[in-house]
Amino acid sequence: MAALNGFSEGTLGAPIVMADGYWGTDTFDIEVDGKFVKKVDVASAVLDCDRVIVLSHAKGHLHGGIAGSLKNLGIGLVGKRGKAAMHTMSDVKIDPAKCRGAECSKCLKVCPVRCITMNGKAKIDPKRCIACIQCRSMCSSIGAKAISVTWRPDHEQAPWFVENALGVVRSIGADRFYYVSLAIDISDKCDCWNVGPTLLVHDIGIFGSRDPVAVDQACFDAVSNAEPNPESMVAEVERGTDKFAVAHSSKDPKTGELLHLAETQLAHAETMGLGSRDYELVTLTRAQPEG
Ligand code: SF4
Ligand code: SF4
Repeated sequence: MAALNGFSEGTLGAPIVMADGYWGTDTFDIEVDGKFVKKVDVASAVLDCDRVIVLSHAKGHLHGGIAGSLKNLGIGLVGKRGKAAMHTMSDVKIDPAKCRGAECSKCLKVCPVRCITMNGKAKIDPKRCIACIQCRSMCSSIGAKAISVTWRPDHEQAPWFVENALGVVRSIGADRFYYVSLAIDISDKCDCWNVGPTLLVHDIGIFGSRDPVAVDQACFDAVSNAEPNPESMVAEVERGTDKFAVAHSSKDPKTGELLHLAETQLAHAETMGLGSRDYELVTLTRAQPEG
């Protein structure tokens, strides 16, 4: 997929390494004292890095409010189990009535820990399942939709990947990371959505920091304060307002109030000690050629 999109050793002049291995299970555990996460399964390749430059596309995210450095750390540098746990509870189940049986068997082939057996219908061994939901993705892609999970509530997902991010930076030390965020093509949804983006605001620029919280906060503030795109779903939103919250329109299931997930994410990251929401913005302009 990377090569199909133009990212290969030939085009980049550097190897492409899947940090958590071919199956997404090449990880090591780092303990954190989080509200949700106690052990983070950090991608093994992180251990080999002298320095990590976290290059992110700053934009909206349905479950995190904003996607930037924190989300890139907490999802991009953990294994499949850590990624999936943010979205779902660990209750992967197969409905035998919908399972197509031995002739299909596709979920067996993608299970990284080989915990699905076939005896007329597919069956998961819950003691060995790591809840990575690769089987569910496969089963949905063939249209059978026999595998189900319970999705985690929206307001728990952002704190979850924040706690994953803490494990990642702790694994080799926060001083080894630097963050660069591209605040361009700013749409409401994460890049994994296969739909064309509705750009909420004009391109803003490139942000850099040694602090993942500060850089995400600066991007978020810049989007909030930017003039809305008149053709977007936030055209009527006043400057200074959380445009991602308006675009996502996720509501608290108990109170019915609009969820401000970026605020939840950034506040939790600061509380967990990942960085500071205070920042000083230093604007760099390109030097004009002489003459
Ligand atoms: S992929 Fe789905 S339909 Fe196919 S064997 Fe697995 S559970 Fe059954
Ligand atoms: S979620 Fe599915 S693919 Fe992942 S470990 Fe469990 S049974 Fe295997």
